[in-house]
Amino acid sequence: MHQFGVVLLFAWALCAASCKSSPANCESSNELLQDLRTSLSSAAAVYLPGSGEFEVATTRWSKLDAPTPNVVVVPATEDDVAHTVHQANKCGLPILAFNGVHGAMTTLGRMDRGVAIQLGQLSNVTISRDGETATIGGGVLSKVVTDTLLASGKQTVTGTCECVSYLGPALGGGHGWLQGHYGLVADQFVSMNIVLADGARHTIDSTSDLWWGIKGAGQNFGIVTSVTVKVYDIKDRDWAIDTLIFGGDKVEAVYEAANQHLSNLPVDVINWSYWLNMPDIDADKPVILFYIIQEGVTVVDPVYTNPFRDIGPISSEPQSGSYRDLAAWTGIALDSPPCQKAGLANPRFPIYLREYNVTAQREAYDSFASYVGGADSPFTTSIFMFEAYPQQGVRAVDSNSTAFAFRDDNLLVSPLLTYKPAGEEFDGQVELMGNQLRDIIYQGSSRKELHAYVNYAYGDEKPKNWYGYEQWRQSRLQDLKQKYDPKGKFSFFGPVDVK
Ligand SMILES: Cc1cc2nc3c(=O)[nH]c(=O)nc-3n(C[C@H](O)[C@H](O)[C@H](O)COP(=O)(O)OP(=O)(O)OC[C@H]3O[C@@H](n4cnc5c(N)ncnc54)[C@H](O)[C@@H]3O)c2cc1C
Repeated sequence: MHQFGVVLLFAWALCAASCKSSPANCESSNELLQDLRTSLSSAAAVYLPGSGEFEVATTRWSKLDAPTPNVVVVPATEDDVAHTVHQANKCGLPILAFNGVHGAMTTLGRMDRGVAIQLGQLSNVTISRDGETATIGGGVLSKVVTDTLLASGKQTVTGTCECVSYLGPALGGGHGWLQGHYGLVADQFVSMNIVLADGARHTIDSTSDLWWGIKGAGQNFGIVTSVTVKVYDIKDRDWAIDTLIFGGDKVEAVYEAANQHLSNLPVDVINWSYWLNMPDIDADKPVILFYIIQEGVTVVDPVYTNPFRDIGPISSEPQSGSYRDLAAWTGIALDSPPCQKAGLANPRFPIYLREYNVTAQREAYDSFASYVGGADSPFTTSIFMFEAYPQQGVRAVDSNSTAFAFRDDNLLVSPLLTYKPAGEEFDGQVELMGNQLRDIIYQGSSRKELHAYVNYAYGDEKPKNWYGYEQWRQSRLQDLKQKYDPKGKFSFFGPVDVK
């Protein structure tokens, strides 16, 4: 549907959206329509329910508590975003950025009407003349950043998954393969254009008081239309992986060895593992899929792999290639299952750890296996994720200097329970299951604080779990929210002001 082809239908849709709670705004929704008609650039688009384009734009990776907008606006310029926010404000309509649509937090479901601002047309990546920075459009996917920089011999930290946006992970901190060298994705920010709640586009950098909040709680303050980030010369073209598969009977041995040999990872080594069903190997219980990845080599150094080969894996497979192979090797490339929108609910229940508690790992495995094991389980495609990245670059940044609060943690752990939606009662049971699995790990950590990566969060956590327990952090976020978004327009994802 072209942008302004169905003026009346658009007005009706907006009215239907806003009239539910504020009839007085119906007139202004007509105003919104008229204004967008004249003010948005010619390549912008507006999609309404019933069109194929609306369907595509609003279909998300996870169906659990997904946002339900009535209108999709696809801006073609950064100013289009500002106009849309400004005019939606006038009409009293909620707004939400739609980017890689892999955000799965249940708080997103609070958006039950309003305008989805689909950022996909803000898709440029431009490297500066001096080669020190790149400017990345607000709707660019991680893979596009990687590929564009690579073509010029450059790299930067991005999220690992090819179908997730660059900015989605970045605004919550952003973990990636290169964080050992350079820090989190957000640590690369130099300046950005952001449309704030006032509907105006602002350019901000480290001189703004908002800068601190943007790096870790950024989804709360506006829509980033472009960001300039540090980029680096590629040093190592070679990457290698060893993929080992263990039976569930090896949980203790594997995570004991991980504590011993893969804690405090060197800057060039990454270790992930998944528990998942592989029916060809074990028809009843999940196996352990264990990755050891190394940069700058064609074979992973045996000093890292031998302790695990000695445990007796069912299989071990070395591979070598380049940075661009990492996503396919670890099952998060464009054609891998997590990049498909398969109509599933996909909640995660994350927790950061310092190290593995082997007893808790066993208890969590047994519990997870009882829920998801076997082809008959409604959760048969679920996984339990264990991500260990090198931390040198992350720790090199002063912890107090950003809203991302968990620089001292080492492991990002989370069950991902995937299932066909089957009603609210079932969702409630899954919430209990997920929290029970997380609680096993939490109790095993013997920590007083539950640190949950906001970008993986389920949605029932509290701001202290996402943004740190320190009172000064909470106060600082509240103050920024009060100053920049007092009406909570950007409070659908990890809201700092949730009660
Ligand atoms: C398969 C998979 C792999 C992942 N891998 C990683 C990883 O390697 N590292 C990591 O850190 N995280 C990772 N994540 C988590 C990821 O950071 C979050 O799911 C994130 O919310 C996805 O962003 P998105 O743009 O794809 O999703 P969306 O649902 O489009 O965006 C999520 C939220 O981010 C905000 N947002 C997005 N873009 C903008 C913008 N331009 N301006 C302002 N707000 C914006 C909005 O509030 C939006 O609701 C992964 C998730 C999945 C499902």
